Amino acid sequence: MPLTQPREPWEARLHVGGEEVTAAGGATYRVESPASGRHVATVADAGPEDVELAVAAAAESFEHGVWRRRTAAARALVLHRIAELLVERQDLLARMESLCSGKPIRDCRAEVAAAARYFRFYAGIVPLMTGNTIPVNASGLDFTLREPIGVCALIVPWNGPLAIAAKKAAPALAAGNSVVLKPAPPTPLTALELERCAREAGLPGGVFNVVTGAGPDPGRWLVAHPRVDKVSFTGSTRTGRDILKNAADGIKRVSLELGGKSPNIVFADADLARVVESAAWAVYWNGGQDCCARSRVIVERPIYDRFVEQLAARGSRMRVADPLRPDTEIGSLISAEQRDRVLGFIARAREAGASLHGGGEVVMAEGLEAGNAISPVVVADVDPEAEIAREEVFGPVATVIPFRTEEEAIALANGTEYGLSGSLWTRDIGRAIRIVKEIRSGLLSVNSDTSSYLEAPFGGRKRSGIGREQGLEGLYDFTELKNVYISDD
Ligand code: NAD
Repeated sequence: MPLTQPREPWEARLHVGGEEVTAAGGATYRVESPASGRHVATVADAGPEDVELAVAAAAESFEHGVWRRRTAAARALVLHRIAELLVERQDLLARMESLCSGKPIRDCRAEVAAAARYFRFYAGIVPLMTGNTIPVNASGLDFTLREPIGVCALIVPWNGPLAIAAKKAAPALAAGNSVVLKPAPPTPLTALELERCAREAGLPGGVFNVVTGAGPDPGRWLVAHPRVDKVSFTGSTRTGRDILKNAADGIKRVSLELGGKSPNIVFADADLARVVESAAWAVYWNGGQDCCARSRVIVERPIYDRFVEQLAARGSRMRVADPLRPDTEIGSLISAEQRDRVLGFIARAREAGASLHGGGEVVMAEGLEAGNAISPVVVADVDPEAEIAREEVFGPVATVIPFRTEEEAIALANGTEYGLSGSLWTRDIGRAIRIVKEIRSGLLSVNSDTSSYLEAPFGGRKRSGIGREQGLEGLYDFTELKNVYISDD
């Protein structure tokens, strides 16, 4: 029987050492739906002593080896069971995610399925945690071992809470680490439920802990904690910078998945109808609150005007509605602050002379009473150096910039401080090969809007991050390599 009762508003505690406990100081905070404003949950607000307990539980479980000493096959069995439990609880998890984040329920269901796939995938590839034998300049035997790192702090954002938590927890646990997961303040529930699934699947107490909190402090305490060996972070570039600094004293292993302003380069020879359909989803999905959003659309001059018109028309047809409705395509932004930030970008672009096509306005409807939903908009005729063309807006805003030559398209695509993702549309294979080699990003798709598959490495260049998740690289990211020499004397 599931441990969670489907009762709302939920009451959520900290999950430490395999138990559910209130914060030591008794503090809680309130989570409200950013879409409707309704009370969704009352959640434990961790203080320093709670973080201390969570790290101690993780460290103790690691020292005792209750998990890391299990065989790879035994760890894989537990991971497979976690995946099954996630799927069994898909309805509950999707509802929690949608209520906390304002994301459409159908996307939340897809996110639960993705989370389960991470656990299955890493259960399947644990046997690939192999080393090498090395013919060194000596007569004995030299080989490498891949070992878990220790206590890993997993700090995640609100825009893909369960999927991102699973993307980190699955490989971390597969490799034999103990973890403390820190969800973002607005979206704690699915992280807690994920830990419940892990507990029920047979993961020993202390290996997986979750601390929740209303502000950034629990994350900071985790990063600074001397017994935390690795920090795996997904979130904004600003926070990533802070984490790098705070992890420096402890020389901690740090991987960072940060912001983006990904280009979508469209040549005139591409199939326009297909590109418009793809480009609309690539920027407006999740209300644009996606690190890989192709928000800097770079379009060859001869088709520029038609493209702007058609993208705006496609965006206008997207259903912005109550996230809980099964046919909703765009729900609510995460908060009033985020809404105001997005509206500020749009207003400043307009004042600077940009032309706006489509929406860019607050949508009020049943289920969206909080007033944080914004309709998709295209911003055209902007200077490529303008803030809206260079900064991560994290809202349903596509900035469309024209180009005339291949060289200009490459320069525009590389012309931001980010380097996470990007797309390129052309039928000319030679041109595609040339451009793929020149774009400085961690991911790139040609004639497709995604190159993010869990089997393949994911991560950013420049200020979009350090390290790679997903794929085999994602498993290795949670390991240390030990070189062993055995003498034959
Ligand atoms: P954020 O940086 O504000 O917060 C992310 C997490 O870090 C939260 O759990 C937060 O509580 C915690 N945190 C905040 N300050 C901290 C600190 N000083 N030390 C330690 N932890 C701290 O990001 P957000 O607003 O939640 O998420 C949106 C951002 O995440 C966007 O910039 C987006 O591009 C990025 N993101 C990147 C990826 C990727 O894979 N590259 C994926 C999703 C989101």
